[in-house]
Amino acid sequence: MAKLKILEFPDPRLRTKATLIDVVDDQLRIFIDDMLETMYEAPGIGLAATQVNVHKRVLVTDVSVEKDEPFVLINPLILEKDGVTVTDEGCLSVPGYYEEVERAEHIKVRFLDRQGDDVELEAHGLLAVCIQHEMDHLDGKLFVDYLSEAKRSRIRTKLEKGRRQQSTVVA
Ligand code: ZN
Repeated sequence: MAKLKILEFPDPRLRTKATLIDVVDDQLRIFIDDMLETMYEAPGIGLAATQVNVHKRVLVTDVSVEKDEPFVLINPLILEKDGVTVTDEGCLSVPGYYEEVERAEHIKVRFLDRQGDDVELEAHGLLAVCIQHEMDHLDGKLFVDYLSEAKRSRIRTKLEKGRRQQSTVVA
């Protein structure tokens, strides 16, 4: 397994719309294991392929306390959504920022699992929120897009400044 590099906002590659996966094979499963390792080590509760610069429709999530209930969603499609919940969301691609985002409280989602089997899942609460957040990534969308333009530019400026300082130290 290998740890993958996570792209950070405002990297334009995070805006890429991911394409459908045709074949669920060992090569994809190796990539999924790398995604899980990267997510657990970060640590985060979800990761979309877009965030590691692979523009295919696959995401991983684990919202359990013990970090032993991973979900792998390939080509996810939301069939139903209802209810409203507001969560303080963060993102591995927007490090250090947490803001309230409104999403559906319950979703029914259809996807292929890591064996390539067709699955339908009813998700509530944090799992539902996390899946919606990661599915946004696959469409090139970030949680900061739900914030005001002023707030989003403030975050962008601070993250760009942080990276400049970091690269000076490294150099
Ligand atoms: Zn994210």
